[in-house]
Amino acid sequence: MDSNNEKPADGTQPSRRRFVSTVATGLAASAAAVAASPAMAQQGDAAAGQPPAGRARAAAAGYPKPPFANQSQPWPGLAGKMNPRPDHGETTYRGSGRLAGRKALVTGGDSGIGRAAVIAFAREGADVAINYLPAEEADAREVVKLIQDAGRKAVAIPGDIRDEAFCRKLVAEAVRQLGGLDILVNNAGRQHSTDSILDLTTEQFDWTFKTNVYAMFWITKAAVPHLRQGSCIINTASVQAYDPSPNLLDYAQTKAAEVAFTKALAKQLAKKGIRVNAIAPGPVWTPLQVSGGQTQENLKKFGEDSPMGRPGQPAELALSFVTLAADESSYTTGQVYGVSGGAGNP
Ligand code: NAD
Ligand code: MG
Repeated sequence: MDSNNEKPADGTQPSRRRFVSTVATGLAASAAAVAASPAMAQQGDAAAGQPPAGRARAAAAGYPKPPFANQSQPWPGLAGKMNPRPDHGETTYRGSGRLAGRKALVTGGDSGIGRAAVIAFAREGADVAINYLPAEEADAREVVKLIQDAGRKAVAIPGDIRDEAFCRKLVAEAVRQLGGLDILVNNAGRQHSTDSILDLTTEQFDWTFKTNVYAMFWITKAAVPHLRQGSCIINTASVQAYDPSPNLLDYAQTKAAEVAFTKALAKQLAKKGIRVNAIAPGPVWTPLQVSGGQTQENLKKFGEDSPMGRPGQPAELALSFVTLAADESSYTTGQVYGVSGGAGNP
């Protein structure tokens, strides 16, 4: 890890950090005030163990903007070591029973967008299995606790999805420990910034495709026999599928492949009542970006080009996953939901 990791990059960052922590303190204080008043607590929180309403809005108002502090971590990176830490909805996401009794497997569920989906799924009433790399155990432990705190079953299955045999084992183990499978989220991803095609090695090309395309195919193939009417698959694609950056030549191709996979498989599985959709995020503040996904220069101004002038936080993606997974979306398949802060496609 970069020794500058904990240090501010410039004069604006500390005040911004203070601002974010002030918002958090304010939220904690207002939560305590709500809890102190039984009448308000009842009115404000029908579902036990859920954060009070309005917290997500307050958090969004304080979300960090560039410039960001200098930082880099060895791949795959940890959310717990990012500065500032991403908001995955830990203190904000409020469920309403939309996924009661469902069983979900989320790859890359330890951090970033996957963690946000996992927190939301658990608070909506689903049991959740997560896959991650052994190096991410610290992040994964936090997620396991968050699932359990929501009163749901948590299953942790570490392993490398570049291996087909492991992908089959992952699905079998998730099905065994959850007692079935309703929701598959292919979210794990590899992104490594390389400026020139001349420096893009076959090894890196292969690594990106194995993680983003082959693993999605292997895991989905293993999962489909377990899915039934009403089940769904959600793939995390990217705006890179539509508006590729020059330094993400290999990655952008895999994201375009994920979109095509989503649309073709949706047509294959429609008659079985299994829906297949994708989410295409714009720039989101996650470990993937600080562990080789961006150059230091791009990282400092990450999200600046977005009309909102900031990157998204993983928590801002959560509701799209829930919406696509919920039974109420029964006529939605083969679609790609964009969550990009105003730029890019779809
Ligand atoms: P993240 O680093 O939090 O999540 C990526 C996860 O992929 C890791 O946590 C890791 O567990 C998993 N992973 C990577 N290689 C693996 C392997 N070989 N075996 C097992 N697991 C592996 O970052 P994130 O940004 O939340 O990424 C989640 C998804 O979102 C990825 O598919 C990414 O391409 C996509 N995405 C991210 C952004 C963004 O700006 N952060 C934008 C668009 C799309
Ligand atoms: Mg991770």
